[in-house]
Amino acid sequence: MREKLTAKAKAAPRARATDSRAPLAAFLGEVLVVCPRCAGPAVSKRRDPAARDTLAPRRLVCRRCGHLQESRPPSVSGLARTGHDDYFRLPLWLATPCCGELLWAFNARHLAALEAYALADLRERRRDPAQGWSNQSLASRLPKWVKAAKNRAEVGRALARLGARLAEAG
Ligand SMILES: [Zn+2]
Repeated sequence: MREKLTAKAKAAPRARATDSRAPLAAFLGEVLVVCPRCAGPAVSKRRDPAARDTLAPRRLVCRRCGHLQESRPPSVSGLARTGHDDYFRLPLWLATPCCGELLWAFNARHLAALEAYALADLRERRRDPAQGWSNQSLASRLPKWVKAAKNRAEVGRALARLGARLAEAG
């Protein structure tokens, strides 16, 4: 199975796509998406919790209705930009329109990282070694519109909406 996956991954032009997802890999442990059955909050996790491969098979479990679904390896990547996850192609639970774009996060920790960045002085790039991620690498990957001073108020409101949405996910 693994060989097959690897061969498939090699056949497809994945290298660039994998790179583009790498800074976000630390946040892929748990991804909140919209359940395809009840529209409730569902969690996508690697089937093998020890797996570190971003292509590792995942399992979706709905917190509301118990819907269970297994993933196939993603044939595309970067769907988060469109507000969807790469594995199930379901809408991300944490996504909201903002500044004519889409502001999204995979999970609570990712949202907290975005908030920490957005609320900090825009020029100050803080690090939190205890969290095991570098705010700097996340910050350098944020699109310009998130970082633009003129968008700060709207980004703040969008983050608040995502916070409420997160609370709704329980
Ligand atoms: Zn459900």
